[in-house]
Amino acid sequence: MPIDPPTAAPDRRGAKILATLGPASSSPEVIARLVDAGLDAVRLNFSHGDHDTLAAIVARARAAQAASGRPLALLGDLQGPKIRIGVLPAPIMLHAGWAVRIRPQGTSGTGAPGPGTPIDGVLPLETDYAGLPRHVRPGQRIYLKDGLIDLEVTQVEPDGADAHVDAVVRNGGMLTSRAGMNIPGVRLDLPALSDKDLADLRFAVEQGLDYLALSFVHDAADLRAARAALDALGSDMHVIAKIETAFALERLPEIMQAADGVMVARGDLGVEIGAENVPIWQRRIIDAAAEALAPCIVATQMLESMVSNARPTRAEASDVANAVWDGADAVMLSAETAVGDYPVQAVAMMHRIIRRAEEGGDAQRLARAGGDWSRDASRSVSWAVRAVVEQNADVRAVIAFTISGYTGRLIAQDRMRVPVIVLAPDRAVEQRAALLWGVRPVHCPPPADLDAMLRTVDEIARAELGCEDGAQVVVVGGVPLNMGKPTNFLMLHAVGEERHDPGA
Ligand code: PEP
Repeated sequence: MPIDPPTAAPDRRGAKILATLGPASSSPEVIARLVDAGLDAVRLNFSHGDHDTLAAIVARARAAQAASGRPLALLGDLQGPKIRIGVLPAPIMLHAGWAVRIRPQGTSGTGAPGPGTPIDGVLPLETDYAGLPRHVRPGQRIYLKDGLIDLEVTQVEPDGADAHVDAVVRNGGMLTSRAGMNIPGVRLDLPALSDKDLADLRFAVEQGLDYLALSFVHDAADLRAARAALDALGSDMHVIAKIETAFALERLPEIMQAADGVMVARGDLGVEIGAENVPIWQRRIIDAAAEALAPCIVATQMLESMVSNARPTRAEASDVANAVWDGADAVMLSAETAVGDYPVQAVAMMHRIIRRAEEGGDAQRLARAGGDWSRDASRSVSWAVRAVVEQNADVRAVIAFTISGYTGRLIAQDRMRVPVIVLAPDRAVEQRAALLWGVRPVHCPPPADLDAMLRTVDEIARAELGCEDGAQVVVVGGVPLNMGKPTNFLMLHAVGEERHDPGA
C-alpha cells in the first residue's frame, strides 16, 4: 500500500509549535530550517502582508512539507474588527489628567478643531469606530496602544452631528497615528467579518489553508458568520476562535460549541482584562477547550525577548512550560519568528522547553472528561482506547484510520502516553492533524479490507516507530472501511501477526 515515506520527525513531543511567518522567516531556506527545528504549524497574519506575499509563503511552506515529509497545518489569522484612533499630524505625548474629546471620523462636530491640536485644554482625537459614542457610558475605560494609554470616559454625546466622547487620561503615553483601541466588556457594533476579512477568507480557501482564526470573537454568532462564509465557498476549513475580549470570556461555553478550536490571544486579552488576570483565564480557557474536546493554542510573547536575543529569559522558558502543563495543544510564536533576529533558534528553544516540560511534568493533567460517549460512537471508542492504553503497559502506540479527522481529535484530547499515528487519505485532514497534541499524521489511501489495513499498520509501526514483530499496538477505525463510518472498532494487534479470519 503506498503510504508516505517515514518522516524525519524530531523527537516525540506532545504539544505542538505554531509559528507566525513574516519577513524574518519567509525565505525557503529559513522555512526549511524551521521545519527541521520542530515547526508543526504556520500562522499567516492577515493584519500584515499582501496576498502575493502570503501566497509565496504558502507555496514555500508546502514545498518544505513535501521535502521533509512532515505535514504542516497552515492557519490564516483574520484581522477582525480592530478599531483605531484616526490619523494624527504627529505623535503626541498624552499626560495623566489631560482631557480628550474623541469623535467618529467624518463628523466635523460643532466648531471642532483638527485632531491633535488642543483647544481650551481639551485634545481632539478621532476614531474609525462610528459606534463609539453610542456604546460607552461615563466610567467606561478605553485603552489605546496595547493598553499603554488608559482613558476614563467622563461624558458622552451619543447622537447627532456633535456625537463625541469626553475622557480623562488616567495613564499617559506616546500616542501615534492609527493606534489600536480596546473597549473592555463592550460588544462592538461591527460585522464579525469586514470586507477585508471576507477577501482574506476567500484567499485562505483558494490557498487551501487548514485553519481560519477569527480575531475579536464576541460570541457564537461571530463564528456562525465565518462558518456560513466558508460553507458558501464549499470549504470545510476549521475555525479557531481567538479569545481576546472580556465579552467573550463570559460566553466561553457557546463559543466552544461553535468553534473547532480556540486561541488564548494573550496580547489583546491582557489589554482588556489586565495582565494579572491572564494566567487564570489561560487555564480556564484551556479547561473549557478540554471539556469541549477542542484544541487550544496559547499565544503571544511566549519567547518575546528572542526577538532580539539568542536566548529567552528564564521567565519565558517557564511560561512555555506552564502552558504545556496547563494542557495547551499548541504554543505560538509571533514576532519572535515573523520579524525577530533568531526565528530558527526560537522554534528550536520552544521544542527543547516542551520536551523537558513533558518529561518532567504532568502532561496528562487534564484527563479529558468531555464528550457524550454513550451516544457518540467515536467517543465511546476513544474512551475504550484510553482504557486499554492506561491498563496495558505493553501498548506501544495507537494507530487510527480516519476519514474526517474526528477520531484523531478525540484521541489527541485524551493525552495518550504513547504515540498516536493518524492515517488519513485526505491531505487536508492530515495537515489539520499536525496541530493536535501528540498526533503524528501520515497520509495513507484507505485500505481495501481488514488484511490490507493490518499490513499498513505493520508497515507504519515498523517505519515510524521502530516496532519489532510482536509489539502491541491499538488500531482504531470505522467499518465497513471506506464508507465514511464513524470510528466503531478497536483492535489490539501484535505487529507482524498473521490474521486468522474465521470467515476467510
Ligand atoms: C493576541 O492579541 O494575542 C493575538 C494573538 O492577536 P494578534 O497577534 O493578531 O494581535
